Amino acid sequence: MSAIHPLKIGVLAETLQGERRVALVPDIAAKLVKVGFQVIVQAGAGESASFTDDAYREAGVVVEVDPRIVLSTADVVLSVQPPHVEDVAQLQIRAVTISFLQPTTQAALIEALAAHGVTAFSLDLLPRTSRAQSMDALSSQSSLAGYKAVLMAANRLGKFFPMLMTSAGTIPPARVLVLGAGVAGLQAIATARRLGAVVEAYDVRPAAQEEVESLGARFLQLALETQDGEGGYAREQSEEFLNKQREMLAEHVAANDVVITTASIPGRKAPLLITASMVKAMRRGSVIVDLASESGGNCAATLPGKVVEVDGVFVDGTTNIPSTMALHASQLYARNVTNLLLLLVSNGELKLDFGDEIIRGCCVTHAGQIINEKARQMMGIPAAQEAVREEARS
Ligand code: NAD
Repeated sequence: MSAIHPLKIGVLAETLQGERRVALVPDIAAKLVKVGFQVIVQAGAGESASFTDDAYREAGVVVEVDPRIVLSTADVVLSVQPPHVEDVAQLQIRAVTISFLQPTTQAALIEALAAHGVTAFSLDLLPRTSRAQSMDALSSQSSLAGYKAVLMAANRLGKFFPMLMTSAGTIPPARVLVLGAGVAGLQAIATARRLGAVVEAYDVRPAAQEEVESLGARFLQLALETQDGEGGYAREQSEEFLNKQREMLAEHVAANDVVITTASIPGRKAPLLITASMVKAMRRGSVIVDLASESGGNCAATLPGKVVEVDGVFVDGTTNIPSTMALHASQLYARNVTNLLLLLVSNGELKLDFGDEIIRGCCVTHAGQIINEKARQMMGIPAAQEAVREEARS
């Protein structure tokens, strides 16, 4: 790296209740140090993901007890959850932040970041293109969630997943239904199949059928029109569509031992797929794991962050499931976030090329403006004049 002052990368300890991940792990920090970055990590940041301060020190990282020093000296601040609104004033003017910044729920924070002149990137808005795959933290974390959801269900279900022939008789395999076959859903299908369950799945995007079948699961054919939206996502469905879908799903929900729901539409409330009466129609001891619990829930009985029992059926609304696998979640997140960081740097200096669709797609604030149209839409503020956006990017 040729810059005279090496770029300083700061890593904050996460403070959100239950957040166990860390944005940078020691072996990836070591690679950054090797190519000439300075890395400063808040003391204890990696502890709940099983990375000690000493492991960071051995990687050539400065471990700093005072978070204010990390905030105020770093050129680039990495975190999983975005910084607190009250900490924004401590950031350097023109600092860069990279995190899961969420325009729908964090409007005040985004306004504060813009007002302070911070360039804030949101991994929530990263374009889902093949070039961006190595930076796609939504996918890496969804994959962990899909895997763990099946283990959580298996742990709660009073049944074996695989078929077993024992001297005491034959045990039939558990039956698992996965609703939504995106990144989390496909990982849930693969995991449930590995455990020996009989799996069926449904998604409103027809492209999902081939992927579901390639994992050895049955794709449910419902007589419904397809709902393809932009960029490989589903589009928001009408209440009429969802009513028909719920009617058609009812018998399948009742017939399965486990239902894993993962259906969502970016920036919108999750669609309701399982009503209270559909829960009541399930056999006692059955389990629903609702991975959409944070965005409104796919099941009417879901309580975010809680497991509830309804007439003997367990409805698991655990939130932030990737945090329960903090070591691998952090390792994958750190790779994603570092790949995005490296795209922002040229010859050891920050060089933001707004002609690059990845940078343009996930940069939310820059030079005092909220420059991202998608973020503005999600925040319910009018579109910026093109001239204003161009001025901020130049
Ligand atoms: P997501 O988390 O937004 O949604 C999960 C799934 O729910 C999606 O498959 C969606 O179609 C489905 N869904 C929505 N409403 C539904 C309903 N009423 N009933 C049943 N299913 C419903 O999506 P995701 O998992 O992040 O990704 C979705 C798509 O994006 C996939 O096609 C995936 O392959 C693609 N993707 C591409 C890239 C890439 O090219 N880099 C990366 C990640 C994902």
